[in-house]
Amino acid sequence: MTTLNVLNPDAASATQGTDTHCPYCALQCGMTLTPEAIELTDANGHRVLDMHLEVSPRDFPTNKGGLCRKGWTSTKLLTHRDRLTTPLIRDRKGGPLRPASWDEALDKIAHSFQDVQQKYGRDAVGVFGGGGLTNEKAYWLGKFARVGLKTASIDYNGRFCMSSAAAANNRAFGMDRGLPFPLEDIPLAETILLVGSNPGETMPPFMQYFDEQKKRGGNLIVVDPRRTTTAESATLHLQPAPGTDLMLALGLLHICTRDNLLDHVFIAARTTGYRDAKRTVANYWPEYVEQVTGVPVAKLTEAAHLLARAKTAMTLTARGPEQQSKGVDTVSAFINLMLALGKVGPRGSGFGTLTGQGNGQGGREHGQKCDQLPGYRSINDPKAREHMAQVWGVEESEIPRAGKSAYEMLSAMGRPGGVRALLVVASNIVVSAPNVNEIKRGLDDLDFLVVSDLFLSETAQRADVVLPTAQWAEEEGTMTNLEGRVLWRKRAQEAPTGVWTDTKILSAIAQRLGAGDKFSTSEPREIFEELRAASRGGIADYSGISYEKIEAQDGVFWPCSDVENADHKGTPRPFEYSFPTPDGRARFQAVDYRPAGEEPDEEFPFYLTTGRVMGHYQSGAQTRRVPELAAAMPESFVEIHPAMAQIWGIQDGESVRVSSRRGEAILVAKFSATLRHDVLFAPFHWGGAGCANLLTNPALDPTSKMPEFKVCAAKIEKINEP
Ligand code: SF4
Repeated sequence: MTTLNVLNPDAASATQGTDTHCPYCALQCGMTLTPEAIELTDANGHRVLDMHLEVSPRDFPTNKGGLCRKGWTSTKLLTHRDRLTTPLIRDRKGGPLRPASWDEALDKIAHSFQDVQQKYGRDAVGVFGGGGLTNEKAYWLGKFARVGLKTASIDYNGRFCMSSAAAANNRAFGMDRGLPFPLEDIPLAETILLVGSNPGETMPPFMQYFDEQKKRGGNLIVVDPRRTTTAESATLHLQPAPGTDLMLALGLLHICTRDNLLDHVFIAARTTGYRDAKRTVANYWPEYVEQVTGVPVAKLTEAAHLLARAKTAMTLTARGPEQQSKGVDTVSAFINLMLALGKVGPRGSGFGTLTGQGNGQGGREHGQKCDQLPGYRSINDPKAREHMAQVWGVEESEIPRAGKSAYEMLSAMGRPGGVRALLVVASNIVVSAPNVNEIKRGLDDLDFLVVSDLFLSETAQRADVVLPTAQWAEEEGTMTNLEGRVLWRKRAQEAPTGVWTDTKILSAIAQRLGAGDKFSTSEPREIFEELRAASRGGIADYSGISYEKIEAQDGVFWPCSDVENADHKGTPRPFEYSFPTPDGRARFQAVDYRPAGEEPDEEFPFYLTTGRVMGHYQSGAQTRRVPELAAAMPESFVEIHPAMAQIWGIQDGESVRVSSRRGEAILVAKFSATLRHDVLFAPFHWGGAGCANLLTNPALDPTSKMPEFKVCAAKIEKINEP
């Protein structure tokens, strides 16, 4: 017998295994990884022993012993045969990638970046990060862009995830924390309004909170154009046309106002701006709302009364209302509704947003966004700039100003004034960005592309240099989950030989760029200490959080500035008694309805909406490589109502062409009798011809710069006609 894989001896000898968290979504389920020997047959037919990390769920406060299929199979990727273990270099455009040493790859990157900056200016080198990066990596990447490269061109894929909710939360509450209360409060709500979210598929262990709420006699109202597994379990399902949920929210507030269901004491004591919001809402008569949304007046009234008459109630939004060119206003309209009902703050009542990516919350707090500095500070705030200049040991004037948002930066790649070189870390933009044909065009026009990833993703395949990075179980760091709870993700084993961590890569490039003194470490704990200092006094203040405190408290909720008290759990409910605005009051926003950037017409008669399925995560670069997940959901598809399929002569299970004004995708037709007749649904986890983002509309929200992933006009056609 031969041992193929040499694991971390500490981990291998641990009898209890390593307590850590799932690598995927923002629920960050607790799990234990235990080394186990498994017997395999090698290429020569010999029986060999390999070490493997076995997953078992933990009774952690978020998942309470539950895990979904993605979590159970997450360690399969650690030893996957597609894993990159050496840097790759392309010597000429169109040539093949070849293995290279780290020195050669890093030298080439540094020279290419310097070359591009000399020719086109500092902002011509861009950095694109990811919402799955640990807080330490997100912070290091932001610092690398602003101090190492001195470029304003940095943004990340979280822009495509939470930015609309973030902007709406900031303008209403003065703080963007996805859930401003712990998950344990959810069952205390008598009525929950869940808008554009399908946790039954995307994060199944989350459903136990709704089950508990329903056991207590509570009502769950789901707003979704599809009758999802979550909608199936609801008390009431409202099925509006994609892109009309802003109208629906305005209609619900209109009914509550008309029927005297508002909490005027709360409005007077804890809010501002109600009068203007009320004036706007007066126009949204239920009959008008029914006409636009397709939701019957009776259902609208029932939903409004269930929400308003409950002693405690919550509204939770997710990507449905947010991924629209009016995402900020849509979320604001739902916040207005909850403020008018006086249901934000007391335990069991509130407004929250369900984060998607593993560190979608922390990823946007520490400097990956083009307009933010660590601690959720504005890059235009002179005090924030002074503070960061001090932490980084640079002049304030050296810190770049705000750059372009994600899609604005990507769509300008290779164009005059746009970036000419790009570093992509943990993001697969060729699958996950909107209007993928434009993204491919931009990548091809770049002078130089570097991708740091675990596998040769669709984006890495186009790179001039590919850097192999460590996976979640091979390095430690902190993550901030959907509740704002900061968690410690621990290392369970060594990374394979030849693989570096992202922080080590960034520090090594910074060294070559002449900024080595500012990047003298790559150890997560040392970086976290700097992050604590950087965030001190900011909205997302982590200065009182330490790895030890996280361990002792099952996570710490930010903001937490109490360094001395080891028992301090942070701030689980920041809006309980006041709001972090200058006057302590939440702010109504007067918002009006406007249609989606593109609506169905004669040429493109359907709404196309995109989303996720249970077996896959984000661009699928990881989950499509897990055999069990790939077998369960092997290919991209499009859902269509059978009655519409009959009109178009489409059979269940056949390949069809779905087109929009931006491109076409080949997808497998799947009948769904519960779908609206005017809607097509396609998941976005696949690349190639089956990529749903070949079709999506990059119309941006004017405030958040969120693209309109959830609505575009499309047509569907048979292919292979006889
Ligand atoms: Fe992982 Fe999310 Fe599944 Fe939990 S719900 S196991 S965090 S993917």
